Amino acid sequence: MCKTILITGASSGIGKAAAKKFAGEGWNVIATMRKPEVEQELTRLENVFVTKLDVQQPDTIKQAINEGIARFGGIDAVINNAGYGQNGIFEAMTPAQIQQQFDVNVFGVMNVTRAILPHFRQQKAGLILTISSGAGRFTLPLLSMYCASKFALEGFSEALSFELAALNIRVKIIEPGGTTTNFSKVTQEQFAYNPELADYDAFTEAAGKLFRGMIAQRLVTADEVADVIYTAATDGTNTLRYVVGNDDFKKR
Ligand code: NDP
Repeated sequence: MCKTILITGASSGIGKAAAKKFAGEGWNVIATMRKPEVEQELTRLENVFVTKLDVQQPDTIKQAINEGIARFGGIDAVINNAGYGQNGIFEAMTPAQIQQQFDVNVFGVMNVTRAILPHFRQQKAGLILTISSGAGRFTLPLLSMYCASKFALEGFSEALSFELAALNIRVKIIEPGGTTTNFSKVTQEQFAYNPELADYDAFTEAAGKLFRGMIAQRLVTADEVADVIYTAATDGTNTLRYVVGNDDFKKR
């Protein structure tokens, strides 16, 4: 039977790779993103429906879910993928940047999860795959807010997996290590010199070296992560966590 999956943040990186993987395996894909009007590649694929969803805007979440159900007859699984890394010295972050990291990475996931649950309960089945990170279990300097957001997702998802098990709704967590996407590029750029925080220089130099060394040791591709997401969706187990190439995090 053909299954249907909704993916957030499908405009690039892991989300886009997952959209292509599931479509290639014969799934219907609701590929959601903030700017569907600029997407060209996914719109050409059969069984892929590209539509707008901003995880910070509940009305767009509801609309994307309703459109997906109308088009494909139901939704079997969701990938909570949209997210970004607010990196750098914590003291240098503005309250707005701190808030935004949680608004997207944490409350965004909760917004989407809360919106899909009535549908999953009604069909008495569902699967929630949330993209956490190696940084959801192992910390790195200059990633305090990002780590905090991913640690929050780990706790949320694990508790929810117990809460929903009796309803035949499974929750799974994917933990990629450094992955070659736009995310990694932004990360490098955020180690820019900041004259107002010069006394952090020695620290940031060392921490930046450590960070770059860690992620340079073994970067995985978005396609590798997508393969693991697909395994998590189809292996029929109740396995909670799937690690992708973040062995270097574990060694710390
Ligand atoms: P990308 O930057 O390529 O993709 C991030 C996606 O999230 C984009 O599609 C972006 O959309 C979307 N997004 C950001 N904010 C919002 C929002 N408010 N609403 C909807 N979509 C939004 O990076 P990745 O593919 O690497 O990141 C995907 C996930 O993987 C993230 O959760 C990230 O934390 C996680 N991850 C990444 C790792 C890495 O090293 N790359 C390692 C471990 C985990 P838009 O195009 O509109 O900006």
